[in-house]
Amino acid sequence: MVGHVPVGSSAPVMVQSMTNTDTADVASTVSQVRELAEAGSEVVRITVNNEESAAAVPRIREALDTQGCDVPLVGDFHYNGHRLLADYPAMAEALAKYRINPGNVGFGAKHDSQFAQMIEFALKYDKPVRIGVNWGSLDQRIMDRLMDENGLLPEPKSAEEVGREALIVSALDSAKQAEAIGLPPERILLSAKVSKVQDLIAVYRELARRCLYPLHLGLTEAGMGSKGIVASTAALAVLLQEGIGDTIRVSLTPRPGESRTEEVLVAQNILQTMGLRSFIPLVTACPGCGRTTSTFFQELAERIQDYLCAQMPVWKEQYVGVEAMNVAVMGCIVNGPGESRHANIGISLPGTGESPVAPVFEDGVKTVTLRGERIAEEFQARVAAYVERTYARKREVA
Ligand code: SF4
Repeated sequence: MVGHVPVGSSAPVMVQSMTNTDTADVASTVSQVRELAEAGSEVVRITVNNEESAAAVPRIREALDTQGCDVPLVGDFHYNGHRLLADYPAMAEALAKYRINPGNVGFGAKHDSQFAQMIEFALKYDKPVRIGVNWGSLDQRIMDRLMDENGLLPEPKSAEEVGREALIVSALDSAKQAEAIGLPPERILLSAKVSKVQDLIAVYRELARRCLYPLHLGLTEAGMGSKGIVASTAALAVLLQEGIGDTIRVSLTPRPGESRTEEVLVAQNILQTMGLRSFIPLVTACPGCGRTTSTFFQELAERIQDYLCAQMPVWKEQYVGVEAMNVAVMGCIVNGPGESRHANIGISLPGTGESPVAPVFEDGVKTVTLRGERIAEEFQARVAAYVERTYARKREVA
């Protein structure tokens, strides 16, 4: 469990995100958590890195609750989590889960005792933990030991392979340690984040093979823009397809001033386009080609997408299953009618040189042909009517 949200093999894969505000800045953090939650993030992680941020956590929780936002908050701890959890009990209580990085819980002799203290707090406050190892903060003791052992092999593995193994061993050994202290296995999640696609796939396949703990997936430091989106999608899609992964995060670097919510939308799109979950009606639009010399169909595709996004908060409250609707906006007769027939509702616009008419298909059947200056408005109205007619009203099925 993460707060009120179940995690596990039979539960849907959940979308997570993380704030980039200073946690000590209560107003900014509350605002960003709300923005992420409203975009669809089902869990939000916040850094708890110093006394000011630890003191702010219960105020953040209270403000969110007051505003009707019950998204669970996960505290991200490094270096001083044991001390902050001891000194700020209201923070320890307000968080729904603790993220512990075994590579950063303390060094030398302090490592095991500080890790144990954090697990004791998880027990005391009845919280789950995510044991989250990271390529960038790998437990050096484990790496050194495995490198020494590797050096004695007749055919030593590459340093990269040893590094992957060190990540896995760090996560699994820490989980075993947590269980030995008394934390039940169902309250332990693991993650092992790396920044390269093939490494991530290899590490998580091995983790999934060796344990039954729920796994949180994410390509760390995925990067900006299309590179970050493509890299995350490539890695997560392979693993999700194999049934690996219970929660996901897409770690995008926003451009200055850009909304943090893109990482949530990308995560939702990965799950929805793979057919694993539905969040918002999808628009199937062709890319356009030399058969579409005007931008009308691009404008209509964008308009319909914007309309669906704007309507979804309302529809979600009113209709059952509308999030799985598929709307097609196609550019010409070549693939337009065919693709539109496969959608719940679709329109095939006229390409260059075609008769200026736009057949509309609903549930595979041509229902009307639109023409003239108001094709966009009329198609939008038909989408609204389709929703009204097709999806049961929530109060009717309650
Ligand atoms: S449906 Fe028509 S306009 Fe769209 S890409 Fe195919 S051929 Fe081009």
